[in-house]
Amino acid sequence: MGLVGIERLKGILGDENVKTDLADLYVYGSDASVHEALPWVVVRPHTIEDVQNIMRYANPRLIPVVARGAGSGMSGQAVPSKGGIVMDLKRMNKILEINLEDTYVRVEPGVVDDDLNRALKSHNVFYPPTPASSRIATIGGEIANNASGVRSVKYGAVRDSILGMKVVMANGDLINLGAKTRVEATGYQLDRLMVGSEGTLGIIVEATLKFVPIPKYRCMGIAKFNKLEDAGNAISEIMSSGINLSMLELMDNVAIKAVNQAQNLGLPDVEAILMFEADGMVKEGVDIEVKKMMESCKKHKGFGIELSYDAKERTRIFSGRKKLFPALSQFKEYYSCTSLADDMAVPYSKMAETAQKIHEIAKRNNVIMTAYGHCGSGCMHTKILMDTRKKSQWEDAKRAVFEIYEYVRSIGGTTSAEHGIGISKAPAFKREKSDSLNLMRAVKKAFDPNNILNPGKLMDAPDDWVTATSLRYRLDEKDMK
Ligand SMILES: Cc1cc2nc3c(=O)[nH]c(=O)nc-3n(C[C@H](O)[C@H](O)[C@H](O)COP(=O)(O)OP(=O)(O)OC[C@H]3O[C@@H](n4cnc5c(N)ncnc54)[C@H](O)[C@@H]3O)c2cc1C
Repeated sequence: MGLVGIERLKGILGDENVKTDLADLYVYGSDASVHEALPWVVVRPHTIEDVQNIMRYANPRLIPVVARGAGSGMSGQAVPSKGGIVMDLKRMNKILEINLEDTYVRVEPGVVDDDLNRALKSHNVFYPPTPASSRIATIGGEIANNASGVRSVKYGAVRDSILGMKVVMANGDLINLGAKTRVEATGYQLDRLMVGSEGTLGIIVEATLKFVPIPKYRCMGIAKFNKLEDAGNAISEIMSSGINLSMLELMDNVAIKAVNQAQNLGLPDVEAILMFEADGMVKEGVDIEVKKMMESCKKHKGFGIELSYDAKERTRIFSGRKKLFPALSQFKEYYSCTSLADDMAVPYSKMAETAQKIHEIAKRNNVIMTAYGHCGSGCMHTKILMDTRKKSQWEDAKRAVFEIYEYVRSIGGTTSAEHGIGISKAPAFKREKSDSLNLMRAVKKAFDPNNILNPGKLMDAPDDWVTATSLRYRLDEKDMK
């Protein structure tokens, strides 16, 4: 794209909303994944019309366009691997309507999750999916990834909170999908197709979301286990007992060591910790549910059990889990915490076995891995900790990633629970969904015949994630010889 193109975009958006400085291109060339690729230009639309005009410019010229919210995606979804335009949607951040009577909220795509929940709180309602990144993640990015969070076991993932949306298509047309009502049976649920589409089908420019009342009572518990297997058995029992729990989180020993080391939390050096929660409008109901979970933990040799309704105490109980991600980044000198094979979902009965398998695979491949996650929704998080300066460690990580996904597939699990596919998860995703890839390509062609919307992702991403783009980490020069 030459100077003339840049001038055209400036004509559409104003000089201040079109960036070509190298520093800007670097900032927009990576996300929270291992990947890096520079865009040709960064644009910042403020209105739906701006988005339409950008697409009308890019589409006939076959210029790639990558939508971007906060850039907190962990699989390279927002990395412009084919160059082109990065469209930063954070300036479209207005809450357009809070409709208490009809229980929905209408927002622009750049609204940050926490900002939305702050606005809803004064009405005693909340938008529940809330990923751990809610301080920065945008609603557009959450929809495009089908994000979820600690309470998704009860309240569902983002797809369960969507009523409708407005989307700008590749050719600049604006379409309305879904409805404002709680139910809708008007043919293909195209709004659902946008959920998890990772910017490959259209640009979400407005969303209608449902909200739910903030529960009056919330009780959280914690239990420690000397054996991971016991924690796994407690998880299976809790999840098949019919309790309507609002949270069930696991931390393994590596995770415990990491938070103790970085935050001095003094958690016991056990094989596993479970954190559980029930919430509701009636205290007696919450009591029954949380006690049932406590009994399951006790039955499976859980000890050191604490329960609390108090908000401050709940924050203390949960603090280890909350601080885990930054703690892992400081686990070992020169080691980085990479988001690789980081969020599979597995059947409840296989949680403990999966955690054990992760440790085995890590050991065999000279990397450090941890197992934690929203086990209430079957989500098993890992992170690969490795010396990213060493080329050999990338080969180690590649083998470990392959082995983990093969194992997860063999037990009926899935490649991603919530972090999406992008580039790094694509090889495993393609193996898992091999029978529907052609159908996905046909859908993509129907929405985006010129293949300009976030090309080279999902089913069209390369088979080797290590060489798919540059890596965000710099290799040691000695190691490159
Ligand atoms: C510390 C940390 C913790 C995290 N915890 C969680 C968690 O608990 N649960 C979870 O689900 N995820 C989690 N994530 C991952 C990430 O935050 C989520 O996937 C989030 O939804 C991404 O939002 P974003 O605004 O950063 O999107 P981006 O990273 O900017 O974009 C992600 C994808 O969405 C597309 N996109 C963005 N906006 C639009 C739009 N308006 N229209 C069309 N496509 C669009 C992009 O093209 C890209 O493909 C975490 C990330 C970090 C760094």
